Amino acid sequence: MSAIAGNVIELLGELPPGVRLVAAAKMRSPEEVLEAVEAGVEIIGENYVQEAERACQVVGDRVQWHFIGHLQRNKVKRAVRIFDVIETVDSAVVAEEINRRCRELDKVMTVLIEVNSGREKQKSGVYPEAVEELVRDISALECISVKGLMTMGPRVGDPEDARPCFIETRKVFERLKELGLPGVTMEYLSMGMTNSYRVAIEEGANIVRVGSRIFGDRDA
Ligand SMILES: *Cc1c(COP(=O)(O)O)cnc(C)c1O
Repeated sequence: MSAIAGNVIELLGELPPGVRLVAAAKMRSPEEVLEAVEAGVEIIGENYVQEAERACQVVGDRVQWHFIGHLQRNKVKRAVRIFDVIETVDSAVVAEEINRRCRELDKVMTVLIEVNSGREKQKSGVYPEAVEELVRDISALECISVKGLMTMGPRVGDPEDARPCFIETRKVFERLKELGLPGVTMEYLSMGMTNSYRVAIEEGANIVRVGSRIFGDRDA
């Protein structure tokens, strides 16, 4: 069995029921992605549209494709063809472009709002206190369905440092759920990476996005 297959099987065995695994595939070859899929991965996370297109040619639509990178407006047209979920919506401008391009395809895109829970200036995502306003602004777009939140938090260091970010995101998630805005459901809470997925699950994540723990270190 390949190392990738072994990692996938181990990880899937470790996740509690109801927690979905997104295999974060940036910088991996389509063959590596295929190995993960053959070992049981059902959702691939891609940061780059072009990489996703290449992997998709090999793996096909037996899996779901989630966009987890920073989406530039000029890539939206290609992104909406491939992806089933866009996890990183953080502005009305991008949401409106997704809506426009999906309308052309007669498709409704599931989107998550990316929360900048660490309040880092250089990071994408909206600040926790601004999420509700953005959701209200885009909830009426007919080809978008807001179904949850995504956050990064710190990628390295002590996993405990990520906990406050996850707690804060969970709070926003629960509040929006209570609000029950029309056209908005809070089904998915995507938090946690290799370093922090255990903490994220403790704080309510039902999607974890794991790269290196499956594919090995990217720098190696
Ligand atoms: C790379 C990446 C991950 C996975 O990170 P690892 O530390 O390799 O597990 C998760 N989410 C996003 C948005 C990423 O870009």
